Amino acid sequence: MIYLDYAADTPVDAQVLDLFCRISQDAFGNANGAHLLGKNGKQLIEKATINIKNQLNCLNMEIIYTSGATEANNLAIKGVARNYRENGRHLISTCLEHASVSGCLKQLQSIGYEIDLVAIKKDGTVDLDHLKELIRVDTILVSINYVDSELGGCQPIESISAIVAAYPNCFFHVDATQAVGKIPVHLDQIDLVTFSPHKFFGLNGMGVLLKSDSLILEPQIHGGTSTSYYRSGTPFTAGAGATALALELCMAELEERLAQVALKSAWLKKQLSAYPLVSFNSTEHSIPHILNLSVKGVKAQAFQAALSDQEVCVSTKSACSTDNTPSRSVLAVTGSRDLARTSWRISLCHLTTDSELQEFMEIFDFCYKSLTKK
Ligand code: PLP
Repeated sequence: MIYLDYAADTPVDAQVLDLFCRISQDAFGNANGAHLLGKNGKQLIEKATINIKNQLNCLNMEIIYTSGATEANNLAIKGVARNYRENGRHLISTCLEHASVSGCLKQLQSIGYEIDLVAIKKDGTVDLDHLKELIRVDTILVSINYVDSELGGCQPIESISAIVAAYPNCFFHVDATQAVGKIPVHLDQIDLVTFSPHKFFGLNGMGVLLKSDSLILEPQIHGGTSTSYYRSGTPFTAGAGATALALELCMAELEERLAQVALKSAWLKKQLSAYPLVSFNSTEHSIPHILNLSVKGVKAQAFQAALSDQEVCVSTKSACSTDNTPSRSVLAVTGSRDLARTSWRISLCHLTTDSELQEFMEIFDFCYKSLTKK
């Protein structure tokens, strides 16, 4: 098997899994308990929390642990919308967002909130002039991803936050799920940041919401307070510890891994460029981990299935949008329905080997020839 779908999920690092097992067995008591194991668990969570904040250089933010970036996005967006509805009911986002963001916005729209989407330029970045036109005194949230999951496009986060900062009633949420652990991230000036460790060799079923201290959210899950007022349930001590370690391991090698992936990605792009029907939907702003391409005339699902028959794993759109509709992101960036229908994603990481990529190219060649012959 050749796995080229690391933007969807990554294997858990052995050290992370080992720590997870150790905490689960040795420090299993409810971290809210007043007894020895409880206090021990609480300390472990506090240690993990400080470690995560240090790694991401955001000591002034509060951490809320969730079941994934999906839940973290729901809490961030609905939590702001419901708590600050007296300030306004206008939210701004993009068509490049993950389903867990666009789904929240759709739900809010159905109950009377007004949603505007900022235009995307041909280079995959948001049109800042359009954002300036859209934002107004009753805008309560701008939600834009750091890196989008389909094209891997990196957004000008600092320029966006400067625009949002001029509106005191407006908060800035960044879904950083495809950025954290892969590229350097700058989170100051952002009010809400979401991500999940299963994208960087941590656990599935775990997510993080970073929230600036001054911001108040309406909780989405009610019950007893856990590690945070905003998220009920027994604290996930081993999950917090495992997340902190996964992040620490990635951050320690961030630059080296990024350089390795960039080399592999450039090699792959060069090989694929030799095929006349191949075009790339990722842009110069895309992170090297994600390469989105189209093979003219061949539906994305057909190419993916042909590769899958040869035990190659790639994906069409993001794994969370499994319907067969054309990609909204590719349509927005390229303006072409044909490209949107034929686009699929290869995603790499530092574990991807040169021989895997060479073998992938042989399989790609076989699929290309069989699917494009008249
Ligand atoms: N946001 C982005 C940009 C993603 O790529 C994903 C997962 O693919 C999510 C959110 C959802 O993450 P989770 O699976 O942790 O809920």
